[in-house]
Amino acid sequence: MIGRTLPHVWSRRWSDEPDGPVLLEGDGARSVLNGDALAQQTGVAAARLAGYGVTPGERVLWSCATSLEAIVGLIGALRLGAVVVPVNPSASRSELRYVARDVDPSVSLVDRAERRDWLCEDLEDAIVLHPDDLLKSASDASVADLDTAVPADDALIVYTSGTTGEPKGAVHTHGSLLAGSLALQMAWDWHPHDRLLLALPLFHVHGLCAGLFGTLAAGSSAVIFERFVPAQVLDAVGESTMFFGVPTMYHRLAESGRAAELSALRLCVSGSAPLPADLWRRFHADWGVSVLERYGMSETLLTLSNPLHGERRPGSVGFPLPGVEAAIAHADEAGVGELMVRGPSLCRGYWNRTPASEAMWHDGWFATGDLASVGDDDYVSIRGRRTELIITGGHNVYPAEVEAVLGRHPSVGEIAIIGLPSAEWGESVTAFVVGRDGEPDIDALALLAAQELTSYKRPREFRVVDSLPRNAMGKVLRRDLP
Ligand code: AMP
Repeated sequence: MIGRTLPHVWSRRWSDEPDGPVLLEGDGARSVLNGDALAQQTGVAAARLAGYGVTPGERVLWSCATSLEAIVGLIGALRLGAVVVPVNPSASRSELRYVARDVDPSVSLVDRAERRDWLCEDLEDAIVLHPDDLLKSASDASVADLDTAVPADDALIVYTSGTTGEPKGAVHTHGSLLAGSLALQMAWDWHPHDRLLLALPLFHVHGLCAGLFGTLAAGSSAVIFERFVPAQVLDAVGESTMFFGVPTMYHRLAESGRAAELSALRLCVSGSAPLPADLWRRFHADWGVSVLERYGMSETLLTLSNPLHGERRPGSVGFPLPGVEAAIAHADEAGVGELMVRGPSLCRGYWNRTPASEAMWHDGWFATGDLASVGDDDYVSIRGRRTELIITGGHNVYPAEVEAVLGRHPSVGEIAIIGLPSAEWGESVTAFVVGRDGEPDIDALALLAAQELTSYKRPREFRVVDSLPRNAMGKVLRRDLP
């Protein structure tokens, strides 16, 4: 079934299958929302938002932990035609203030009193509600015009992590969100009988657009978790068919001693950061799980994926998803260049930031800022962010390549390679290593580097650290390393 916007598709699904469970809590109260309840409650939430003066096109800031009530509020806002702006519920006061001032929300939905106080102090005339407030006094709440947005209307503004400057809000339309969901449905055979284990945060496109919106668009169901606790997720495998995670989740599942239980699922997907090839191989060889790695970003939604049927290759993100075109720009002699993507799931630009948007766009192509190469058989490999490229003595060193080689050593738990300023070399290749079950064996690592890497790629220094700094999606924060 193809509808014009996600809310349109969702409400059709709910009326086709009113009794089917759609969202199930995986922890705590274990409440369930079926199609009928979702249709009804999100309609009430939309009406309550309208009652607070929200009109289509206005922004609703949403900064909540994952819960049924919070999801109902978010979907209600979308059904009303408001533009949802998700913010990490653990964001600092200044991060929250920055986004709030940038989008000027008509209403903010937050689930913690401290955040409500911050917003009330930091924004003029702020209306700040708890998601539960939207479900109160339901009887008098109704709204005539639901699900009337058209594909060109703005639907979602997701803020980039701002690792290289100020965070910017990528603006997705109803059309780009729908395209993103339909591409995954096609590529991964996502059917109504699927049930997704969804422990990803919903303030990021991975959990929100791929996980939640994809589930609803497929007419399927999801078990939702407020946070990722391996035992809770594994306990819910029995009635589920899919798991979407970030590499740090796969690390923790590997350590749980229960990773083989995932083999009962039909599909385990990883993305948002590189999945170390070595970890992929452990899942494959030791636990019978062939993790499907895919690639995407806030600005583009998911664009590349290993195949559902066919070889899923460690260290690669596969091929463009249906409707997506990909190209490598300005490749160097090793075939590595900037990954460009084009397709219907791309955002329309950045909120309030025309000049910054223009720098990324070239005739509908979006310059991802990621370096990539393409093998003879068209499998694409991500080689790291362009800004992470190390130039040492005039040579290009791709951290991902060095990390892949050294990360294979059994004494290594995690590794990150960065370039530190050097008077002699410009930048000097430096390794930050976390041991696996004890100290990493640095002599063995230096030997491995000498055997497997050209001399300029070998780390000149190894630093042993307890852990790597990571953001909420498990991405290594390289700027916080030295
Ligand atoms: P975000 O906008 O927060 O989703 O971050 C997008 C960035 O995450 C991309 O530009 C890549 O640098 C990185 N990324 C996402 N998926 C992968 C992947 N499978 N392998 C390597 N990097 C990835």
